Amino acid sequence: MQNIHDLSFEEMQNLMIEYNQPKFRAQQLFENVYMCKKFVDISNLPKELKEKLSDNFCDQPLLVHTTQKDVDGTEKFAFLLQDGNIIEGVLMRYKYGNTLCLSTQVGCRMGCKFCASTLNGLARNLTAGEMLYQVLLINNLLGGTLKKRAITNLVLMGSGEPFDNFDNVTKFLSLVCDQRGVNFSPRNISISTCGIVPKIKELADKKIPYILTISLHAPNDHIRQKIMPISKVYKIEDVISVAKYYFEKTGRRVIFEYALIDKLNNSFECAKQLHELTKGFPSHINVIPLNAVKERTLLPASRKQAYQFVAWLKDMGSSATVRRTIGENIDGACGQLRIKILNDNG
Ligand code: SAH
Repeated sequence: MQNIHDLSFEEMQNLMIEYNQPKFRAQQLFENVYMCKKFVDISNLPKELKEKLSDNFCDQPLLVHTTQKDVDGTEKFAFLLQDGNIIEGVLMRYKYGNTLCLSTQVGCRMGCKFCASTLNGLARNLTAGEMLYQVLLINNLLGGTLKKRAITNLVLMGSGEPFDNFDNVTKFLSLVCDQRGVNFSPRNISISTCGIVPKIKELADKKIPYILTISLHAPNDHIRQKIMPISKVYKIEDVISVAKYYFEKTGRRVIFEYALIDKLNNSFECAKQLHELTKGFPSHINVIPLNAVKERTLLPASRKQAYQFVAWLKDMGSSATVRRTIGENIDGACGQLRIKILNDNG
């Protein structure tokens, strides 16, 4: 059954016309479902309309299955979808506001060697409404409303590869930025990709200033191919070219993610190559010691090594920081909680 949250405001208006309802009903429906109200609980819609909606649409695409809270305030949610699948989201509390990390697919088919999300492959894509509802549900749980949102920033860094589910992700982005709804600014939304070049170009051509984050994790194809199968399809130089293109079209500097792995990508030579590769246009490098995943064999670099690596980059003139790790005690890395639940359930 289709989710009501998959529909844009205009699509809800068309639905009301199809149902022979006055146009203003769309506004009422929209406001209520954005506050996570179930059809039966909406007080300002006629009973027959609510019944018709219930017969044709799902009003609760997902619910909270499990939560884990870290001492630093980070909270991890496992969401149960209508079909029994599980996805996850992480709420990170910063001084400036709350950031929600959300999933775009159930699992992932990109096969990165360090990532827990891809261990069981891709189960299916999420719909735009399923992505939106992760935001609406957490906003609601935190006591937020449409006018006064409790979430300030969104990052598409949960399980899944956003550019492998491009149409649903771009529809989600337009829904979540709709001024009549939760009204996010594209400037507060980060989209993270392993580097699907043609889709990055397609997003750049929309000229919307979302923050683009590219998971680079290596300074050359040789190392990248050892850990990221996608690099056999798109060469690192093409990934860099499209990052430049993204900057030219949107005016936003691109962020490169670099998970530091001991004995693989943490040498001075790697820092030098990374600097040469990314210099010449505005970008930033986020270095993070690899988060060890039980099922994976790669060795995390220490925080000390991460600070050394960043110091080398900065000395050469790159903009770089060691990313703060939060939520480490609660299986905070990509896909870890979901894998644990799947394993616990046999
Ligand atoms: N598919 C997207 C987004 C999901 S992963 C992407 O590849 O960017 C979000 C980020 O976490 C990516 O940068 C990913 O490479 C990184 N990541 C995944 N597993 C990790 C681990 N074990 N340690 C450190 N970073 C990890």
